[in-house]
Amino acid sequence: MRAQGIETVRRILCIFPRYTSSFGTFEYAYPLTDGVQAFMPPQGLLVIAAYLPENWPVRFVDENIRATTKEDFEWAEAVFVSGMHIQRNQLNDICRRAHAFDLAVAIGGPSVSACPDYYPAFDYLHVGELGDATDELIGRLARNPSRPDQQVVLKTADRLDMSRFPIPAYELAEIKRYFLASIQYSSGCPYQCEFCDIPGLYGRNPRLKTPQQITAELDKLLECGVTGSVYFVDDNFIGNRKAAVELLPHLVEWQKKTGYVMRLACEATLNIAKRPEILEKMREAFFITIFCGIETPDPDALKAMHKDHNMMVPILEGIRTINSYGMEVVSGIIMGLDTDKPDTGEALLAFVDESRIPLLTINLLQALPKTPLWDRLERANRLIDDEARDSNVDFLLPYDQVVSSWRKCMEIAYQPERLYARYQYQVDFTYPNRLKIPVTPEQKSWANIKRGLIMLRNIFWKVGVLGDYRKVFWKFALARLRHGDIEGLISSAMIGHHLIMFARAASVGQQNASNYSIRLREASVPAE
Ligand code: SF4
Repeated sequence: MRAQGIETVRRILCIFPRYTSSFGTFEYAYPLTDGVQAFMPPQGLLVIAAYLPENWPVRFVDENIRATTKEDFEWAEAVFVSGMHIQRNQLNDICRRAHAFDLAVAIGGPSVSACPDYYPAFDYLHVGELGDATDELIGRLARNPSRPDQQVVLKTADRLDMSRFPIPAYELAEIKRYFLASIQYSSGCPYQCEFCDIPGLYGRNPRLKTPQQITAELDKLLECGVTGSVYFVDDNFIGNRKAAVELLPHLVEWQKKTGYVMRLACEATLNIAKRPEILEKMREAFFITIFCGIETPDPDALKAMHKDHNMMVPILEGIRTINSYGMEVVSGIIMGLDTDKPDTGEALLAFVDESRIPLLTINLLQALPKTPLWDRLERANRLIDDEARDSNVDFLLPYDQVVSSWRKCMEIAYQPERLYARYQYQVDFTYPNRLKIPVTPEQKSWANIKRGLIMLRNIFWKVGVLGDYRKVFWKFALARLRHGDIEGLISSAMIGHHLIMFARAASVGQQNASNYSIRLREASVPAE
């Protein structure tokens, strides 16, 4: 649905800020693609854009793709932005630039919802999800778009039911410039891991769209030209297992109908391994990747962070089970926990080798506002507000020891030989379990072949000729070519290149140690 009953017309400029360079945004892979410039289209901002009154012209700028121009600001009557903590400085910078044009600026999204005081200069703070605060904001702008005398804080008390959410305005985004397309079925998670802000922000009882909304969104993504990977950004895909079971047959049907043009991925807790009925349907719906927050292989640490549900099956067994349904596991790992010991780094590296997981996002612990971890550390006076540090946590082990252990782990885990050995395992033991899908007309189309050839040319030149790990690459690549597995070659080489390059930068202190830290490395993600 859209906001109703508004007669006045306002021109709204929606701006998504640049990312701070981080492990999870894959920017080292972009030069190997056919023109990707950004990670994922921002769901929240595109939903708000779709919710605005039908007669309000909306322009969307993702500053990861292009900078907002003078002409954009001159066109607009008000500016909407949204983002995460890691984009805080960029968000405040957009506000400053919009104010230079005397435009009212409203901010919504997860960062301002958790920490309104991070954004003192904004005219409107939209705290919480889509709901009555959104209607109030639209009403105020309709009556008067000029900047209010003082900051107005609007808090959502009555959230819009997700089953009434509009389809995100994907058509406003240059969807083909994104590494992954995104979609959202649910919001919230029933667990309460100590470090996580999801239950505090979005609740423990997941809210849901309908399966019909999801297939309509997939239709729209397809219309916008998406044919690659689509990531379910749900906090936990099985946060409501019944809902996941209800959705999956619709996804299977949709994939059959459209010729399996989308490869699906999601985030879910590792205890999904106990649900073969869900895994089998996910296989049939062509899910090929699951991100699991394994966090640590240490059972004491899992207990301490209230993530006992990761131990419902032995971790390695859980990973193998997921692999047996053709899905590669991607894992989040945290270092700097109170339970860490001097040998935690070695134990982690042993786990990396044993798990055979190619992609693990290894972060240093960062305390996020609105989490039990934040409250505990605040009480113990262990929060440190210093942007020069890689974490805001006063670790129990010496800071330098923790950071150097993290750097060492990054360096060793992503040595090209080790990483490609893990990919080889996936090629041998995970990917063969995937659904064998028929070759679709879309795959045989000249546009798709041309895209593949551009990516192969980039990979062969930048990794196979210029790359300093080309021997390892060619050993893997030639075997893939012999098997005619071009798609497997392209995806492993692209992701692998990002992991290797990022880890090298990290191991010499040129990348930050947390996806959540706001320590900036602006120069490495040029948007202009
Ligand atoms: S299971 Fe995942 S989403 Fe849920 S509280 Fe834990 S870390 Fe957060």
